[in-house]
Amino acid sequence: MTHRELPHVALSSRAHNREGLHRTDEAWLDEQWRSPETRVLVLRGARVRTTADGLEWVPPDAAPEGLRVLLGRRDGVTRFAVLAEPRPDEDGWVGARELVAGLAGSGAGDAAVDQVPWLFHAVGLAEWHRATRFCPRCGGSLEARSAGHELRCAGCGRSQFPRTDPAVIMSVTHGEPGSSQERLLLGRQTTWPAGRWSTLAGFCEPGETLEDAVRREVLEEVGVQVGEVAYFGSQPWPLPASLMLGFHAVAETTAIDVDGAEIAEARWFTRDELAAGMASGEVRVPGAVSISSSLIESWFGRPLPAGW
Ligand SMILES: [Zn+2]
Repeated sequence: MTHRELPHVALSSRAHNREGLHRTDEAWLDEQWRSPETRVLVLRGARVRTTADGLEWVPPDAAPEGLRVLLGRRDGVTRFAVLAEPRPDEDGWVGARELVAGLAGSGAGDAAVDQVPWLFHAVGLAEWHRATRFCPRCGGSLEARSAGHELRCAGCGRSQFPRTDPAVIMSVTHGEPGSSQERLLLGRQTTWPAGRWSTLAGFCEPGETLEDAVRREVLEEVGVQVGEVAYFGSQPWPLPASLMLGFHAVAETTAIDVDGAEIAEARWFTRDELAAGMASGEVRVPGAVSISSSLIESWFGRPLPAGW
């Protein structure tokens, strides 16, 4: 199985050109904004409008007042987002989380999945602007620059840029690779319904390597010692600011001792056990376009059934 075929890759396989070098080129930005081809995604808070085809894109002259941010270009079309004031009472606005489930869920068409990179870019910026109101150094007010990708303090001049918080997500296995005895470790979060299982995950801490974050999270959450850790792939999750970094990790111990706080239960599955559990419906794993799904599928060796 190649990486290209794995589910999460669909989320970024049609990335747009972000036109980073044009973000400070006001003449170019104005020209793009005036072009009849240009399309705009309007966000109120982290909510957008949809049509039957996915996101609702409007021409620039139909966009409301708000902060104009450049998303970039793809297929000859320049796209912006406008971050407008939230209107909690207005109908028809959909939250990004619900929308991603629809756009990238099991059975979503290519055209829908295609829109996720735009949505993720726009929502990540919207979340950052919503959460960043003052200069963290002097408390001064902020001015948006670089087509919405920089905030500069009017008081002390300090610039800040959108944050991305690294989170690790891992398939942990034990036993001879590829053998019928090889087992995969899956966990159930305390807040999940019975039968839902997935890979473990957690945030990287300051001063920590990603590999050590994998080892620490697995040890903290389920009491299993991990040795070798190898990078697998990544998936953006800017809700509000995460980047999921996938790893394959090899366990050195198998005894499970769950933390009970975040993880309610953890279990080792052979491929046969996972297949039987999924077939009977007792075990449900993420089947949507996600890196957790890719990690499980990559180990399992064949496509997973529709998940959660
Ligand atoms: Zn300042």
